[in-house]
Amino acid sequence: MKEKVWKNCPSCGAHDSMNYRSNLRERIEGKGYKPFSVHGLDGYICSKCHDGILTIKAENRLRVEIMENRAHQDSARIPANALIPVEVIAKSLRVPRQTVHWMMRAGRMPFVYVGKQRFPFNDKSKKIVVKGKSYRISDLAVSR
Ligand SMILES: [Zn+2]
Repeated sequence: MKEKVWKNCPSCGAHDSMNYRSNLRERIEGKGYKPFSVHGLDGYICSKCHDGILTIKAENRLRVEIMENRAHQDSARIPANALIPVEVIAKSLRVPRQTVHWMMRAGRMPFVYVGKQRFPFNDKSKKIVVKGKSYRISDLAVSR
C-alpha cells in the first residue's frame, strides 16, 4: 500500500493542519496485561485537535510490538496444554504452515514463546482475521 501524506485532518476536518512527526509514543493498555509504551513511531498529528494518524509502516510495527510484548507476558502464564500445534491451525484455516508462522511474526495471530519458538495458544477471547473472515482461536484449535 502506498503511504499517504496527510494534510487535512480526518478527525476535525481542519485544513493543512497535519504535521509529520517521527518520535511519537503510543501507550498500550490491554485487559489483563501490564501497560507499556512503544517509542519512535512516525505519523501525523493535527495542530488543531491533536489527533494523530500513524503511517502504515508504524501501524505494522506497533501491531508486531504489541503481539511480541503480550507473547512475553503470556509465556509465563499460559499452560502447556493450551498451546496449539501450528499444523492444527494451518489445517483449520486451510493455509500452509508458513502462513501461520508469518501471521505470528507479523502480529496477526497471538502466540507465546516456548524457548525461542512461537506457538499459537487456545484462548476463547482471542480472534484473528484471515482474508476478511474472523475466526475464534479456540475454534481453530480443534483438529478436523
Ligand atoms: Zn484535527
